[in-house]
Formats: sequence, C-alpha cells, structure tokens
Amino acid sequence: MIRSSTPSGSTWYELETWLNGHGRAGPVLPGLLDLTVGGTLSIGCGRSAASGRRPPPAHGR
Ligand SMILES: Cc1cc2nc3c(=O)[nH]c(=O)nc-3n(C[C@H](O)[C@H](O)[C@H](O)COP(=O)(O)OP(=O)(O)OC[C@H]3O[C@@H](n4cnc5c(N)ncnc54)[C@H](O)[C@@H]3O)c2cc1C
Repeated sequence: MIRSSTPSGSTWYELETWLNGHGRAGPVLPGLLDLTVGGTLSIGCGRSAASGRRPPPAHGR
C-alpha cells in the first residue's frame, strides 16, 4: 500500500500521473480524472453532501 497526500485543488489526473511516475496506480478512480480529489471526497463517492450518509451497499454487505 502507498499513502500520499495531495495539495488542495489537485485533480485525479495529477495524482494518477504522479503515482504512475512512481510505478503505482490508484486502485479505484472516478470516471472523469479532471475532478479534484477534494471535491470527489466531499461530494462524490456515493456520499450525500447534505446528510453525509452513504447509500446502502449494492449487494447487502
Ligand atoms: C462527468 C462526471 C463524472 C463523475 N464521476 C464520478 C465517479 O466516478 N465517482 C465519484 O465518486 N464521483 C464522480 N462524480 C461526482 C464528483 O465526485 C462530484 O461532482 C465532485 O463534487 C467533483 O468535485 P470537483 O472538484 O470537480 O467540484 P468542485 O465544485 O470544485 O467541488 C465540489 C465541492 O467539494 C468542495 N471541495 C473541493 N475541494 C475540497 C477540499 N480539498 N476540501 C474540502 N472541500 C473541498 C468544494 O468546496 C465544493 O463544495 C462525477 C462527476 C462528473 C461531472
């Protein structure tokens, strides 16, 4: 496993480019790499910005 931090405003493309340059790749990526990492973690990832709750798992796990 690799841990990294990224400046506020960095896009997934920038992060993935950095990881690839170090022989690594993100195991999961959004469909559009122009999104920022912070924006995706705040709003995306299935999380509701209003409630902060996640939807139930797709397969009951
Ligand atoms: C074409 C498309 C494809 C997408 N695919 C996926 C996907 O595959 N998976 C997924 O999970 N989501 C996906 N999304 C949703 C995406 O995660 C959200 O739209 C997210 O808000 C995008 O962030 P942004 O940086 O582009 O937007 P912005 O409007 O810049 O940011 C959204 C919000 O996050 C806040 N924010 C940004 N950076 C930070 C930070 N560093 N710290 C705290 N708050 C911050 C902003 O203040 C704003 O309120 C997709 C969206 C689009 C349009």
